Amino acid sequence: MCTAKEIKEKTLKYTLTTWSKQAGRDPIVVKKTDGIYYWDYDGNRYTDMSSQLVNVNLGHGNPDIVAAIKAQADKYCFISPAIASEPRALLAEKLVKLLPENFGKIFFTNAGADANENAIKIARLYTGRKKVFSRYRSYHGSSFGAGNLTGEPCRYPLEPGSPCFVKFFDPYVYREKIRFASEREAAAFYVAKLREQVIYENPDEVAAIVMETITGSNGVIIPPDGYLEGVRKLCDEFGIVMVCDEVMAGFCRTGKMFAFENWGIQPDLVSFAKGVTCGYTQLGGVAVSTKIASYFDDHLLSCGLTYSGHPLSCAAGCACVDAYEKYHILENVQKVGKVLGEILEELKAKHACVGDVRYKGLFSAIELVRSKETREPLVPYGKDPEGIMKGIIGELKKRFFMTYSHENMVIVAPPLIITEAQLREEMAKMDEVLSLVDAKYC
Ligand code: PLP
Repeated sequence: MCTAKEIKEKTLKYTLTTWSKQAGRDPIVVKKTDGIYYWDYDGNRYTDMSSQLVNVNLGHGNPDIVAAIKAQADKYCFISPAIASEPRALLAEKLVKLLPENFGKIFFTNAGADANENAIKIARLYTGRKKVFSRYRSYHGSSFGAGNLTGEPCRYPLEPGSPCFVKFFDPYVYREKIRFASEREAAAFYVAKLREQVIYENPDEVAAIVMETITGSNGVIIPPDGYLEGVRKLCDEFGIVMVCDEVMAGFCRTGKMFAFENWGIQPDLVSFAKGVTCGYTQLGGVAVSTKIASYFDDHLLSCGLTYSGHPLSCAAGCACVDAYEKYHILENVQKVGKVLGEILEELKAKHACVGDVRYKGLFSAIELVRSKETREPLVPYGKDPEGIMKGIIGELKKRFFMTYSHENMVIVAPPLIITEAQLREEMAKMDEVLSLVDAKYC
């Protein structure tokens, strides 16, 4: 058994940490986790207001999921994807039944990035076309293909990247110079722009349009009503595969099992990960429409992973899907999500630094500005030389409210088991910190 000091020393000495300069790291050393909380070795209790990386939807330490993994480990831990296994078969069935009726089969992956890698491969194999559209404000993973799909600066180290990846702008209404009269007008504008771009790229060459149904880490950008329907029509018009990346927005996060259900559309492919196992083990996948899946009856599905549908992860996935129902998670997200929306609107009305709040279910972002009138972002895009956002996240951390920021936005996405009382307690801390921001920067 190591002490907290030894764990930290070994971590700093022997591991490379994601998305950071390695010098100056000072990680919390976690001792135990439970529900929406985790503790360090000094007994400090932290509230997980981002569900870690927006993946621990069912909270920490759910006994059903732990028991399912243990039970599967006692039977067998691994078997090749080519050999049929009970947890893989059962999870695929459960997922297909959760999805709209046009879905038929699941291709399992390890996580979100390779779900997207395989989604674009499936779309390219199916259509025989090469180009793939995705948005600038997006994150789809950091492997090569998913990193090329990604539009935000995380993709820069991969550049010049692969040919045939085309970027378009998100329907980011708050940052648009045009003031639209309605959501539908905004949607029509963005879809028309996208249509023009597809035409200029030669629609016969476009295999897929890939979108996070609700852009997640890049600021919870919620599509205006009519947008997803418009993209669906565009895909139908030109025979393009519509891919919804539900890695972050899926599995009850937005008050629906999948975020696209909020707009009643049916994509052709859905990539998923995170909430399917809530981080208890890692798993991802691509849900494939019956039409596209049947194409591969007579054509080689040239996709493969050693751990496609790992039995331990699929057992965890089965337990998670059951737990969403057993613990009435959708009902909780709808109920507590409504309270979150009200609190966010109050914060926006009260604080000079809050330019916009965006929320759906328990998926939300607070966009910070210098002035509500000019909408000048609190920190310029891609730059924060004074470490202002780091300071804000630090103030929250001092109050044991744990989350992360992106550009000038703070993400609030707690585990979906959070109660109204817990949410109010935590958001009071956010209120305090926003007052500090008002006083210092506005
Ligand atoms: N897609 C979205 C929308 C994500 O938010 C993420 C990760 O945050 C990914 C894909 C990549 O998933 P992973 O980190 O599991 O590879």
